[in-house]
Amino acid sequence: MAEVKLENVTKRFGDVIAVNNVNLEIKDKEFIVLVGPSGCGKTTTLRMIAGLEEVTSGNIYIDGKVVNDVPPKDRDIAMVFQNYALYPHMTVYDNMAFGLKLRKYPKSEIDRRVKAAAEMLGIENLLKRKPKELSGGQRQRVALGRAIVREPKVFLMDEPLSNLDAKLRVQMRAELKKLQRTLGVTTIYVTHDQTEAMTMGDRIVVMKDGVVQQVDDPLIVYEKPNNVFVAGFIGSPPMNFIDATLSSDAKILDLGSFKLGIPADMQGFVAEQAKNYLGKKVILGVRPEHIYEVSLIKTEDLIPEAVADMRVEVLEPMGTEVYLYLINGPVSVVARVGSETKARMGENVKVMFDLRKMHLFDPVSQVAII
Ligand code: ATP
Repeated sequence: MAEVKLENVTKRFGDVIAVNNVNLEIKDKEFIVLVGPSGCGKTTTLRMIAGLEEVTSGNIYIDGKVVNDVPPKDRDIAMVFQNYALYPHMTVYDNMAFGLKLRKYPKSEIDRRVKAAAEMLGIENLLKRKPKELSGGQRQRVALGRAIVREPKVFLMDEPLSNLDAKLRVQMRAELKKLQRTLGVTTIYVTHDQTEAMTMGDRIVVMKDGVVQQVDDPLIVYEKPNNVFVAGFIGSPPMNFIDATLSSDAKILDLGSFKLGIPADMQGFVAEQAKNYLGKKVILGVRPEHIYEVSLIKTEDLIPEAVADMRVEVLEPMGTEVYLYLINGPVSVVARVGSETKARMGENVKVMFDLRKMHLFDPVSQVAII
């Protein structure tokens, strides 16, 4: 069992509040990902859990015990860093064995653990090499191996894949996730990469300016973001945000250069959910995959009142799909359409906004209304 709990945890560096009153409960065996832009406080949060940084206020618990004053070596955690931090003069075997030797484990036990971890990671044949004789991916595995042999209660990982090339990163993402499932060790993983967070996390914690914005399953964060920041950060290409006015009868969104009709079966819901915004300004959020090219959809799926004519500024072929950068007056959006698109750069295209999937946000607080 290894649960980790943060209770009103704050970290100040002089005037900078790096982590601001964070509350978080990480379950046993959970893979939780802290994600957010550079400087949002994710590394500091991880370092406080590791004991490498003192908390300014609040409590950190591991398995129900406050560990604020417990030194890192006694917290039963293992950390994997972005730069791997391998000892260059030691072999792979010795790098993996080092932590156990320090803790005076018997030689036979060290040998058993190193070999088991090496097998799990597919690096048995590299045990005699030095780090400089390894590829980036292999070094990464050794760093993981060094954490695994410790058999800790908790893994803490700080951007462990960011030094790998794109292809290897995708491969290691899946391997790491599988490994974590097999080992069943509670894992707290830090990344600035939303795809990594979405694909790896059982739950993700989105942070901004030291403050937790949302903690949820990846799909919930994607489908029901709490605010404009989360909506824009999770998803690629990001959600489109458009200034709009909601009509007082909840039937129309006026985008300035054109209007979109809200489907009849949704108007009641909008009138209820957005009752304080009728006749007022809102931010409309639409994901690129919810803007359809009219010529590519079936007639029965067409919602004529939600169609707009837009000019194709840029067309980006991505293989099975194409990103269309569209503009009409002040409104510019990205649409994600199939590769069978008939759109041409510089020409106009009719697109339908699927308002059944729309999001509305408060223009001032930026908090989600729908
Ligand atoms: P990155 O992805 O760039 O590592 P991060 O989200 O991990 O960013 P942190 O490294 O936790 O962010 O930093 C959070 C804030 O605290 C930043 O404003 C940073 O400049 C500040 N900070 C971090 N460590 C220190 C320190 N030792 N002294 C002063 N300020 C610090």
